[in-house]
Parts: sequence; structure tokens; C-alpha cells
Amino acid sequence: MSHLMKTYSPQAVAFERGEGVWLYDTSGKKYLDALAGIAVNGLGHAHPKLVKAICEQSAKVIHTSNLFTVPQQETLAAKLCELSGMEQAFFCSSGAEANEATIKIARMYGHRRGVELPTIIVMEKAWHGRTIATLSATGSRKAQAGFEPLVAGFVRVPYNDIAAIENVAQNNQNVVAVLVEMIQGEGGVRVADAEFQRKLQTLCNAKEWLYMVDEVQTGIARTGKWFAYQHAGVQPDVLSLAKGLGSGVPIGACLGARRAKDVFQPGNHGTTFGGGPLACVAAITTLQAITDEGLMENAAKVGAHLKTRLQTELKGVAGVIDIRGMGMMLGIELDRVCGVIVKRALEVGLVTNVTQDKVIRLLPALIMTQSEADMLIDKLVPLIKQFLSEPVVATGK
Ligand code: PLP
Repeated sequence: MSHLMKTYSPQAVAFERGEGVWLYDTSGKKYLDALAGIAVNGLGHAHPKLVKAICEQSAKVIHTSNLFTVPQQETLAAKLCELSGMEQAFFCSSGAEANEATIKIARMYGHRRGVELPTIIVMEKAWHGRTIATLSATGSRKAQAGFEPLVAGFVRVPYNDIAAIENVAQNNQNVVAVLVEMIQGEGGVRVADAEFQRKLQTLCNAKEWLYMVDEVQTGIARTGKWFAYQHAGVQPDVLSLAKGLGSGVPIGACLGARRAKDVFQPGNHGTTFGGGPLACVAAITTLQAITDEGLMENAAKVGAHLKTRLQTELKGVAGVIDIRGMGMMLGIELDRVCGVIVKRALEVGLVTNVTQDKVIRLLPALIMTQSEADMLIDKLVPLIKQFLSEPVVATGK
């Protein structure tokens, strides 16, 4: 009998070690990893520079607490601000925590402006985390069910719909911020129109709202730019990061700029583990390796190759609704529930994922080469074709 709480229904496979884009299970079977720990292991597995940096830092000091200066935080914050156009960073340990900070900044900002019930506009199908506040911001009834009462102070609108937000702007004087993903990862790899984001930023500026972008999944070069908002040429006031930042060593960040600068003052927010020396070194090394090895450019190039090959191979295949995404963040939407593909892929040595029941999601490491991408396609496409040739099984969903 397992002594774990039943929060997940994990596959039976357990990975023992990894190297680059490859994983090996406890029986020695080899798998091509097209998931990278859900967009975390951007450098792949056992990257030599990361392993060395983590080992060296562990031998010096792992944790000291935020009651003392952590020089690695200053280095990491400066680097992230340089890459993102932001001005200040707060470090924590997960995406949900980064968004908690985001939400708290918006509320504090609102109160400072005399808004008693500060309200944040959030999107349908958004995913911001599973703490009570981030769950309330998340647009999934399935994830929220059973955890009511949810936190007040959120208004939900359809994604990519600027008119809906303008409508809220006219009728709700309590709005102080908008929280949005550039690509909804858990929401089915749905990409925001660049035009929508640009209009949204303009509206936020006009209303003096905070334009808050959740790049927990899309950030750190995954989409072929350091941050996905750079594709649209916009600039957030608040930015949340996690997943790929520490390459698997837990670290999240909430970055602020302009209107959102200096909102937090000593005593307003904090966390014991956030921005410890080990996690910061892992993040600094990750950013350095991405730069030195041209991994952002690689993500753009190999991701485009993956997408083109998927479009070519699956062209005209009945049951394929859409192929979308950017860089190393791609989704293949089918016309039916397809969770079984994850199991079948494991059987042929491929690690992948299905989100929103019908969307096969690919999130490979940024280091994936073109020939490894070809292997991925050669494993995945026959599975999809076989699956779609079978009679549709009633699932009750
Ligand atoms: N925000 C986005 C966009 C995410 O994709 C996720 C996780 O999938 C989160 C926030 C929550 O991050 P975490 O699971 O690290 O709390």
C-alpha cells in the first residue's frame, strides 16, 4: 500500500538516470524525453556545467535564509532584469508562489491607489497554480471543485478577447491589474494573438493597471525568445517565472518594473527557501549555458523543424484538429480524448504528455538536436495515426 496522498496518478515507470534528452528507467530501458519534466529541464538531463555548479555550491553552502545577504540573488536578479527589461526580482520556489507574489503586488498596488477591493482580470482556461489564491485565478473548474470558498477579487474573461476586457474596464472600477499567459500551456497550448497582447498593454497603460504576464511555462527561452512576450514586442509590469529557471532545482521568481516597482516593502512578503544560494547558482548556470550554447536559437530552429514536420506528416489525417505553439512548446489537438497515447508512447520509448484531454503536448529540452527531433516525430506520428484509425471509445467525458 502506498503512503503517498493520491494527488497524482503516476505512470508505473520510474526513471533512474538521464543524459541529454534521454532517460533510462529502473530496468535500463531508454526513452526519448519530449516533456523535460513539464518544461523544466531545459538543459536536458545531467548537463555537465549544471552538475558541476550544483556540486560545487553544495560543498560551500546550500542555505542561509533571507535574513542575510545572498550575493547569488543579486547576480541572478541583475541577469534576469537585463534579459527581460524588468527592474526588480523576488525569489521563491515554485510557479504558484511566483504568482502569489504577483497577486499580492497587484492588491498592494491597488490599496496604495485607494481601491478597497482590488480586482484582477484573469482568463478562461488560465493556469496559475494550486495554492488557494492562484487556484482562484486559474480557469479550471475541475481543479477548483471541492476547494470553495475561492478567493475573491478575480474577474474572468475569454482568452484573446480584448473587447471583453474593455467591457470590464467600463463597468468595474476595482480593476487594478490583468494576469495573462502568452501561451496557455495547461490550457491546451493556446497561443495569444500578438495584437491582443499589444492592445492589452495599451489598455493597462491607459488605465494604470498592472500588465502581469505569467511565463512560468513559456519563459527561459522555451518559445525561442528568452520570454514569449518578446515575440509580441510588449513589456510587462509584473512577470512570473519558475519551471525552466533552475533546470530542476526549485526556484521561482516574480519580477516587477515601472508601476510595480517598490510595491513590496520590508515585512510585506517573504519565504524561507526563496532564492537560496544553491537554487540561484542553478539558475545562473542555466542562463549562462543557454547563452553560451545558443540554446534559445536552437529552441527556435528545432522547434520550427518539429512543427513543420508534424504539419507535413499529419496533413489531411482525419481527427487532427490543429498543430500549434512556438519553439519547444507545441500542441497537437485531436478530435477525441487521447490520454492513452502517453502510455503507448512510453511503450515505444517516448515521454510525452496530454493536456485538456485532447491535446498532445511536446515540451522537449532546449538542447534537442534536429536528428533527435526527427526521432521524436518518427516515434510519435505512427502512434497518432494508429490511434486515430481506431474506433472512438466512449469515455464519458
Ligand atoms: N503558471 C503556469 C503558466 C503554469 O504552467 C504552472 C504550472 O504548470 C504554474 C503557474 C504553477 O507552477 P507550479 O506547479 O511550479 O506551482
